[in-house]
Amino acid sequence: MSTPLLRAKALEDVLGRRPQLVEPPAPKISDYFAANVFNEDAMRMFLTEEAWYAVRQASQHGARIDRKLADQVASGMKEWAASKGATHYTHWFQPLTGLSAEKHDAFFEPIGGGRSIERFDGSMLVQQEPDASSFPNGGIRNTFEARGYTAWDPSSPAFVMGRTLCIPTIFISYTGEALDFKMPLLRAIHAVDQAATEVCQYFDKDVTKVISTLGWEQEYFLIDKALYYARPDIMMCGRALFGHIPAKGQQMEDHYFGSIPDRVRAFMRDFETEALMLGIPVKTRHNEVAPNQFECAPVFEEMNLAVDHNVLLMDIMEKTAQKHDFRVLLHEKPYAGVNGSGKHNNWSLATNTGRNLLRPAKTPKENLQFLTFFVNTIAAIHAHADVLRASIASANNDHRLGANEAPPAIISVFIGDHLSKLLDELERNIKGAMSPDLKTELKLDIGRIPSVMLDNTDRNRTSPFAFTGNKFEFRAVGSSANCAGPMTVLNTIVAHQLRSFKKQVDALIAKGTKKDEAILRVIRDLIAHSKLIRFEGNGYGDEWVKEAAKRGLSNIKDTPRALDVWERKETKKLFADMEVLSAVELEARHEIELHSYTLKIQIESRVAGDLAQNHIIPTAIAYQNRLIENVRGLRDVLPAAQAKKATETPVKLIEEISEHLGEVKSLSDSMIEARKAANVLEDARDKAIAYCDKVKPHLEKLRYHVDKLELLVDDELWPLPKMRELMFTR
Ligand code: ADP
Ligand code: MG
Repeated sequence: MSTPLLRAKALEDVLGRRPQLVEPPAPKISDYFAANVFNEDAMRMFLTEEAWYAVRQASQHGARIDRKLADQVASGMKEWAASKGATHYTHWFQPLTGLSAEKHDAFFEPIGGGRSIERFDGSMLVQQEPDASSFPNGGIRNTFEARGYTAWDPSSPAFVMGRTLCIPTIFISYTGEALDFKMPLLRAIHAVDQAATEVCQYFDKDVTKVISTLGWEQEYFLIDKALYYARPDIMMCGRALFGHIPAKGQQMEDHYFGSIPDRVRAFMRDFETEALMLGIPVKTRHNEVAPNQFECAPVFEEMNLAVDHNVLLMDIMEKTAQKHDFRVLLHEKPYAGVNGSGKHNNWSLATNTGRNLLRPAKTPKENLQFLTFFVNTIAAIHAHADVLRASIASANNDHRLGANEAPPAIISVFIGDHLSKLLDELERNIKGAMSPDLKTELKLDIGRIPSVMLDNTDRNRTSPFAFTGNKFEFRAVGSSANCAGPMTVLNTIVAHQLRSFKKQVDALIAKGTKKDEAILRVIRDLIAHSKLIRFEGNGYGDEWVKEAAKRGLSNIKDTPRALDVWERKETKKLFADMEVLSAVELEARHEIELHSYTLKIQIESRVAGDLAQNHIIPTAIAYQNRLIENVRGLRDVLPAAQAKKATETPVKLIEEISEHLGEVKSLSDSMIEARKAANVLEDARDKAIAYCDKVKPHLEKLRYHVDKLELLVDDELWPLPKMRELMFTR
């Protein structure tokens, strides 16, 4: 089949599809929620009291589990998994590729004489040594000559997916360096727990633990699988490198929150069922702004679990989509001209006593606690905006940030009118030693932070980091990212800030200042000091770019440069002080991210080159030949004067096509040269910068001319499904 026919056939396939309805296992979700999770209920049934208690202590307090108990846990876990039909087990981990990884082993073990047993003991549960030597390690494993190990993370429950028992694990080198996303995340969760618990002691002695919470919102595009396979660029890069933007995009806003198409709803129900069985509390689904764009969001959870659940969900979505003849595009920017996809990270801190530290309360005392955490978070973002920026940097996300559809690459904090005024007042009113009158007045002010604020916080959608009444929403995270990256950074910087806050308050108290006054004074200083990071206006406008520059805020537009912050002395000290990442681990991550950036652009550039040479140029020439034939024919049959007139249009088309063809060819060639020049560079940063500055611009220019040709060439000959077909058929 020739390629143009493939396009026609793909469209025919799409039009013939019907929704594939799959009934959930029971009518009520609560009847099957977490059915495939080795949770409290399952543990109580399958573990001895002793083993159950050990897992609980390990998961809540990081206690060690001794070998004998680990054997007991493994045995119970195996029994449970077998009852769910599992025949294999795997350590499930999150290497720095950004995907989850698994290597399955059977429980089955031959014991000679033609007999066999199912075996799974403590050592198999606790630690494995997958020969996973091709995962990115940023040089760590070369340096240390060490292999990678996976080690059980009891704080995230095991689950059965398909016929496999999956055990969430961390992935570390023999010498203990993190090779994954989870290990630093766990360290950062611990850091913020320690720092926040200490600060909570000022307000409530019963607080012994502070839990980070995360609720993510996953945006994605769906594309029919036939169209997917007819677009090599989408298949290989996850985004359309070419394609003229259709006359109708999202300007009518008729897709957003519209009724969900039947085929899509069948898919959603199916993957949600899978997710719910795995204990992922998915709750919300709706259409997003762009055509064929959707969102799925769960109820928030403890951060480590929430991260695992998001990684799992992305996996489940892809697998389920294939059953429904769809493919999921998790790429941040599959199509130019319409919105890209993000993954808002809603973040907060909660105490073991059940209090959300970012929820305004009724009493002045509780509100002072709220203010403490609120202001310290803002101060942390102010002090470490560049680190936060780096945590969301990727080749994909570069298309989105600052493209007037997503938050700009400038990090700022939005808190709404009411709280802005309050902070301004506090800044003005808290002065030196406080009179009793002033204290009363402040208490009243603080007491007036209304809890109803939750309902009327402004919804400024253009801010990368917005307070939404009882949590902060980090909106700049990309849709394909592992939330662990940005959440590790956020927890680390907040932990660091809280620690320094505690130090300052304690110093004032030691000098004889009363506790509340000391807290208020440090809060005042933080408000004054971090003021410039607060921005309430339109984050998409050009004015903000100018204003931010005046304020001295960074606006780092591309990934390789955003990543520079990992090399700064202060960054290394920050992560080392908080015991989240050592200098070696940071350097390794920096190198991995640079390398991944380079690879992404390199692949895009190669695919674009191939498409240009093998699809676009031959098609344009074929059409041009038809025109040439037409011109000759006209000259044959018409008298000279008439022929001259009649050939004007085809001749003009021939000329236009030639012009764009010439550009496509020369850009393809010079792009290859740019790649060659970049490829010989040794240093990872130099190479990434060369790809960013020298290779990537070719992609844009090439697209311009290819898209012009798409408009000139006969639709029947055009090989690639067009943007309108990708975005509007389903
Ligand atoms: P919306 O932003 O669409 O109005 P919500 O405010 O209810 O919706 O919440 C959006 C997301 O924020 C949901 O995933 C929700 O679970 C999550 N969320 C709500 N409260 C918290 C919290 N305390 N910590 C973390 N995430 C939260
Ligand atoms: Mg949101």
